[in-house]
Parts: sequence; structure tokens; C-alpha cells
Amino acid sequence: MKIGFVGLGIMGSAMAANLLKAGFTVTVWNRSVEKCGVLADLGATVAASPRAAAEISEIVIAMMATPAAVMAVRDGSEGIVAGLSPGKGYVDMSTVDAETSRESARLALEKGALFLEAPVAGSRKPAEDATLTILAAGDRKLYDSSLPVLEKMGKKILFLGETGKAANMKLANNLVMCGMLTALSEGLALAAGSGLDTTQLLEVLDSGAVANPMFRLKGPLIAANKEFPTAFPLKHMQKDLRLALRLAEEVGQPLFATATINELYKSALARGCGDEDFAAVSRVIRK
Ligand code: NAP
Repeated sequence: MKIGFVGLGIMGSAMAANLLKAGFTVTVWNRSVEKCGVLADLGATVAASPRAAAEISEIVIAMMATPAAVMAVRDGSEGIVAGLSPGKGYVDMSTVDAETSRESARLALEKGALFLEAPVAGSRKPAEDATLTILAAGDRKLYDSSLPVLEKMGKKILFLGETGKAANMKLANNLVMCGMLTALSEGLALAAGSGLDTTQLLEVLDSGAVANPMFRLKGPLIAANKEFPTAFPLKHMQKDLRLALRLAEEVGQPLFATATINELYKSALARGCGDEDFAAVSRVIRK
């Protein structure tokens, strides 16, 4: 199967590499062209535009930073949609709002093509190890035909229904992650501030009902308060909080903690932590 892959950031580059390793014919495009080099070394063809990547492929995948980035590669004379034709599939794996996804679906349909949204849970390492959780929604036929491709990037793949359901599920998932990370940061700050051994606090947490892989991974980094090597950029997590709060507005759901946590993330952005891992939000909490 011929696959187009647009967006070679932290996640996209690892996911496209796994498709090449699995033997798919992959054509890539990225705004910063230098990121295409590693994929070209693995056997990818580099397209001149998102449109060209779509034209040459049966399924074109996008993995973009934000809704604006999705639109930048989707729309216009050199965009993905311009390269779609009847029978082709457009799979957007970016984390965006349901409205952006529904517009992508509408544009694909206008060209006789099919659309699937498929945002992912899991970060840099699961992307590299092809162990992502993939939340898919949209066209069921495209889901079925793209499953052999998705299976080379993820270990758990769910079909959630009509376009927008996966986008919203992903936002609910990330809101929980942000809440957990904030609680962990506050717990560690309190432990450090009151003279406790933070390593022991992590041990206590890990032995009880709140034990989880994220605490195991991020806890020692937050306790050390030095480097936060970027797996999930803080600026993208704040985007997800913003989108979750917008969805909550739409459906009239109060989100007491998330509204406050979003302010923490905004403060971290203002301090220049946007390109660091989202665990760097702990800097705002620590006195
Ligand atoms: P990233 O490393 O920042 O990569 C973002 C990609 O978007 C890059 O290819 C970038 O191109 C492109 N881009 C941004 N603005 C653009 C524009 N205006 N026009 C064209 N291209 C543009 O982000 P990532 O960590 O891979 O995340 C990608 C998506 O997955 C995001 O929606 C994120 O929320 C989601 N996600 C991330 C993680 C994670 O742990 N990292 C986990 C789950 C989901 P350049 O290379 O030219 O900048």
C-alpha cells in the first residue's frame, strides 16, 4: 500500500519510520524539509507538497501540531485535499477539536475521498515502539482498510463512531493526564518543602492505588527539577486543555480543576517552557 505522511515532528517521524520498517511505500512531506532526511535514509520518497504526497498515495496521513497546522497542510492549491480523488483515504492523527475534524471530513467527501480522524495516546517512546493507543472515528470503510497501517503504529486501536468522537475522547484523556501531573507536582513540591525525601514519596505512590506509568516516568524528573527532555511539548498540552475547555463550554460541562490547571500551563508558556516536556509545568508550582 502507498502511504503519504505529512508532518514529521516528534510523533510523525517515529510513526512514519515504523511504516517504512513494516514495508509500506511511504512518501513524506514536512514544512521544515531537513526533517525528511532521516526518513529518506530509511527509504521514503520526499514529496514537493502535501498535495503531491496525497496524489501519489492511497492513504495520506497527517500528524500536525495544532488545528491551524492541520489547515495549513490541508487547504489551498498545494494542500492535501487538492491531491485527493475518489477512493483515496485521508487519515488525520493530529490532536485537534471535533470541528476541525468535521471540516476535514467534509472537504475529503467533496473530492469523493474518505476521512478518518485517529488521534493517539502515548508519547515519543510508544510512537517509536509502535505501541500507541489509536482513537479512530469517521468513515468505517476507511478504518477497515487502514487498519493494517494503523496496526504498525499502535497496539490498541479503537473505533469510536462518527467524526468528532475520537477528537473529543482524546481531549478527555489529556485533561485527566494534566490533572494527574499537577497533583504529582504539588505532592512532590510539598514533600520537598517540608523536608521529606521525594524519592520516598514516589515509592509510596508507586506502592498504592495511584501507581501508574506516568508517575514512574515523570516523577523522578519533577523531583530532580533540572532538565525536562521533551516527549510531549508543553505548548501542545496547553492547546489540548484549551480545546477541552472550549468543548466543555459547548456542552455546558463545568471543569473546575481543568480551568485552574490551564492557567498553570499558560504561566509555564509565559515563562518560556513551551518546547519543554509538559512535566516542566512543575516549575510554576514549586516555590
Ligand atoms: P511536533 O514535534 O511539534 O511536530 C508538529 C508538526 O507540525 C511538525 O511536523 C511541524 O512542522 C508541523 N507544523 C506546525 N505548524 C505548522 C504549519 N503552520 N504548517 C505546516 N506544518 C506545521 O509535535 P508532536 O509532538 O509530533 O505532536 C503532533 C500532534 O500529536 C499534536 O497534535 C500533539 O498534540 C499530538 N500528540 C503528541 C504527543 C507527544 O507526546 N508528543 C502525544 C500524543 C499526541 P515543522 O517540523 O516544520 O515545525
